[in-house]
Amino acid sequence: MTQFEGRIVVTGGGGFVGSHLCERLLLEGFAVVCVDDFSTGSLRNVEPLARHSGFQVLRADVTAGLEISGAVDAVLHLASPASPVAYLSRPLETMHVGSTGTQHALDLACSKEARFLLASTSEVYGDPQVHPQPESYWGHVNPVGPRAVYDEAKRFSEALTVAHRDARGLDARIVRIFNTFGPHMRADDGRMIPNFIRQALAGEPLTVAGDGSQTRSLCYVSDTVEGILRLLWAQDEQGPVNIGGTHEMTVLATAELICGLVGSSSAIEFVARPQDDPAVRRPDISKAEQSLGWRPAVSIEAGIKKTIDWFLEDSLLGS
Ligand code: NAD
Ligand code: UDP
Repeated sequence: MTQFEGRIVVTGGGGFVGSHLCERLLLEGFAVVCVDDFSTGSLRNVEPLARHSGFQVLRADVTAGLEISGAVDAVLHLASPASPVAYLSRPLETMHVGSTGTQHALDLACSKEARFLLASTSEVYGDPQVHPQPESYWGHVNPVGPRAVYDEAKRFSEALTVAHRDARGLDARIVRIFNTFGPHMRADDGRMIPNFIRQALAGEPLTVAGDGSQTRSLCYVSDTVEGILRLLWAQDEQGPVNIGGTHEMTVLATAELICGLVGSSSAIEFVARPQDDPAVRRPDISKAEQSLGWRPAVSIEAGIKKTIDWFLEDSLLGS
């Protein structure tokens, strides 16, 4: 399936999406260097991967620098807080990892003559006024709102990536990831899916923001990883490419679905809606379908069941 072999650096490889990417790459036979400062990720996510001889973990803050000895064939740059709770509590770190951290990851790719892939986000579309969102939409971001530290850092990362493609001839790719969920999300991560599962399992009220009528389109992590790797290996596509689910649901319906699947009698508690929280979100995935032959395969219900099972198992193991 792959177009090249070799050694791949994954920044943010100890996080939720990054740890699944590392595992998949190791299974495909690549050597993987996971670079992470574990600020929002967890060593537990990647400890089981130590059985692969080609796996290496480097605890480092990519904002401080990124030096890797030996050959590198691709740099996948995922390091960044991703949950709104995480980036709102680390505003400066988020901007620094999106700017200086991305510069270091790009420099590493250039110096190794490696391929580069940026994990960007649907947040570049902000609170969108075009729905669903195609890659050609420039977005609707409040540059001085609280979410700007993440949204604008990712928009800057995209611009910096394209500038390196143009000015330094780097083979640089951009994936715009939409709301992804699955095992390895931290229970206290703050995002909707881990919050609702944790609350339902504990019999606590599910905290739905506003009236819960805002929408998201969820994608199970194995599908997101497949989309990222198809873009990495594509012959004729560098992106940006949207990777995300197409089944749009309200937040309230998602809370009710999770309650039902857990078999919980938890109540719904309506809480304050965060400032600039996007009202709707759904990717137009025509480009991913046409140029990568990708579309999600796992249903939301099946993905949520797998995630609930993992949360139960993880809590038994004493997280
Ligand atoms: P995560 O928080 O689980 O993973 C991010 C990882 O980056 C963590 O392990 C964290 O410790 C690490 N990190 C943060 N700052 C770092 C630094 N300065 N140096 C080294 N490591 C650092 O989040 P995630 O959901 O796995 O997101 C991974 C990437 O995908 C992020 O770039 C995020 O913006 C992007 N993304 C994710 C989603 C999603 O729904 N999960 C959606 C859009 C984009
Ligand atoms: N949300 C919620 N309750 C929570 C956490 C999140 O209602 O406990 C809402 C949040 O306001 C947003 C949606 O769920 O409308 C998705 O939030 P999440 O943090 O998962 O990701 P986002 O898409 O905002 O980055």
